[in-house]
Amino acid sequence: MVERDLWLGRRPLHLRLRFLQGESTGSYVTRLAARNLRPVEQLLASLGVGPMPVEPQYTEMYVSRYARERLANLSGCSVTELSLRLVSLRDEFLMPDGSADDWEWPWDARAGFIVQACSLCAASRGTRSPAWLILPDPWHVCLRHGRWTDNSRSLERPYIDLRDHPGVVRAQHRLNRVRKRLGYAAARWVEADALSVLTRAGYLEDPSRAREREWAVLAARVGEQRARPVAQSGMLARLAWDMSWLEERRRAGRLTAADSRAWLQRVGRQCGFLFHEPLAQWISGHHPLQHARQAGASGAGGTRETEVAGQGAAPLASLQDLTCLPWVRMPNEMDRLFL
Ligand SMILES: [Zn+2]
Repeated sequence: MVERDLWLGRRPLHLRLRFLQGESTGSYVTRLAARNLRPVEQLLASLGVGPMPVEPQYTEMYVSRYARERLANLSGCSVTELSLRLVSLRDEFLMPDGSADDWEWPWDARAGFIVQACSLCAASRGTRSPAWLILPDPWHVCLRHGRWTDNSRSLERPYIDLRDHPGVVRAQHRLNRVRKRLGYAAARWVEADALSVLTRAGYLEDPSRAREREWAVLAARVGEQRARPVAQSGMLARLAWDMSWLEERRRAGRLTAADSRAWLQRVGRQCGFLFHEPLAQWISGHHPLQHARQAGASGAGGTRETEVAGQGAAPLASLQDLTCLPWVRMPNEMDRLFL
């Protein structure tokens, strides 16, 4: 067995690195090595012992407790700060104590999706090469630069320019308002249920056949799989907004049966008859404990109320994990294509 060199990794590297929100550990380590003009292998040797590095666009890197301390030393910050900035360094993702290696690159990320960072955001943090995020959804909207990135790893079309799709920007603002209205955890549940309803209603499942020319053109340009979540985002946000109205009242104990009926009629009429049945099922089967059980990734035994308070909430739980409805599937299933 290779011995750890206890003298390595005890001092900060010469050049620090600015954090990118949501960055994957693999991407951060790769950028930290590049910033200090070192090969990644050399930086890893300062963290302990383990296998050869993998390009950060393919999977996430997980580390041992020992290597996390070393990485904090090299980065010039505390373990607490580093774990706050890089979600995969949190305790729940650490390698088990007693592992022979200090890091690993499994075939697939254990939770979340690897999504390319907005290159303009990365550039503002001093990075020219692509940086990679680890996120609960396989897409990311940068409102600052109007870019949609996803987990496609396409070098030809690394992002979708939202100047061509102003409705997607409005949708993201609307989702942000849902989060403000309900709090992040509850808003994610509502968003997940809205996505499940969209799937059941078959809404824009095939954007290349959409009546709106905008989505057909996008599907022809980037492919149906990448276009689908972009095309669905407007309706997803609208539905989540409507559902959050009902959810807010339910949580406050102010919701009556008459409210629910009136809501179902109004929203069912707006969205179309295909939405009526899944929305009716959402209303009838929707109660807190069922949610908490379904959201298995969020920690065993938690109730929705404790999760909402921020205890045990899983930062990388996907919409698929969170919904209490049976129809959802990820709108973008490309994550393993490139492995
Ligand atoms: Zn950006």
